Amino acid sequence: MRQLTFIKPGKFEWHDVAAPKLKADTDAIVRPVAVARCDLDLYIASGFVPYPGPFAFGHEAVADVVDAGPKANVQKGDRVVVPFQLSCGRCDTCKRGFTNTCESFAPRAAYGLKPTSGTEYGGALSDLMYVPFADHMLVRLPKGLDPVAVASAADNVPDGWRAVAAHLKARPGANVLVVGGLAQSVGLYAAGAAVSLGAGRVLYLDDDPVRRAAATKLGATAEPLNLGERRGKTSVAAGGSPLALSGGTEQFEITVEACGNVDALDFTISSTAPNGVCTGVAIHFGPTPMPLTKMYGKGITFLTGRVHARADLPAVLERCESGHFHPECVTSRVVPFSQSVDAMTDSGPKIVFTNDI
Ligand SMILES: [Zn+2]
Ligand SMILES: [Zn+2]
Repeated sequence: MRQLTFIKPGKFEWHDVAAPKLKADTDAIVRPVAVARCDLDLYIASGFVPYPGPFAFGHEAVADVVDAGPKANVQKGDRVVVPFQLSCGRCDTCKRGFTNTCESFAPRAAYGLKPTSGTEYGGALSDLMYVPFADHMLVRLPKGLDPVAVASAADNVPDGWRAVAAHLKARPGANVLVVGGLAQSVGLYAAGAAVSLGAGRVLYLDDDPVRRAAATKLGATAEPLNLGERRGKTSVAAGGSPLALSGGTEQFEITVEACGNVDALDFTISSTAPNGVCTGVAIHFGPTPMPLTKMYGKGITFLTGRVHARADLPAVLERCESGHFHPECVTSRVVPFSQSVDAMTDSGPKIVFTNDI
């Protein structure tokens, strides 16, 4: 079968590899039908994140089951979402919902990201993917949902969702701030999830006009970030006191830092209301100072870490199926698999590849 293989930044090759065969009663083999580019994929492809090749590429897939063991709980022809992280559903960690850190796999085990775990599990931009513990892993796509619309549900959509969903449940109607940037689509999905879950004001700040347009489509209020200008106002209003509560910025009970730079992180925390919660969804590469004095004075909780994609997936799909949440507003381009190499470094926030091979 054909498998898109990352060789080095700017270089991909289609390799012929052996098709997978079923190894256990609980496992399944699926054929990807719609695959989305994860925010991280762009940075691996461009070399911004230095991952050594070669490895199978792509890890956000909606797929059709083509073969399944008798205990896989899916059947040939079922359309499913394949969570990008491998998890068993049986260990204590999985049972607690922490499917990101399943005890049955190497840490950070995922499709299409061999360097994160050291193990090759295959990629989504392939004819076929092998799914162990399919009885737990695979989530059926609700009938009314277009696979292209929710192609990113395997990873980036729940990644945005988890930054706001539980907090909005605890604080219904709370105002939400998302500072967008590096984690391009994750920040947008966080804004869309917040709107869909009945948040009050949802403000999305980003210097990129394409992403701001997507945020507006999702129902958020989008404005340029203009960090220099906003921070200028902040320092004057704060009067230099590290314990100043508001720092002169509008305050939000729930904030999301998707920008990926230190100044934006500080701004996001400054914009978090007393007793509020801030989630960092961007990966910060290198040393990252935290404004702990400010956080202490305001009682701010800061959360970070990888999403537990499998655990959050059913709630995400339910919200999409009910018509409240529209991840497709983020999709900037749809191309067939055969054009995926050329489209991989597109600047838009979400590229979806449809299987034509
Ligand atoms: Zn990803
Ligand atoms: Zn597990």
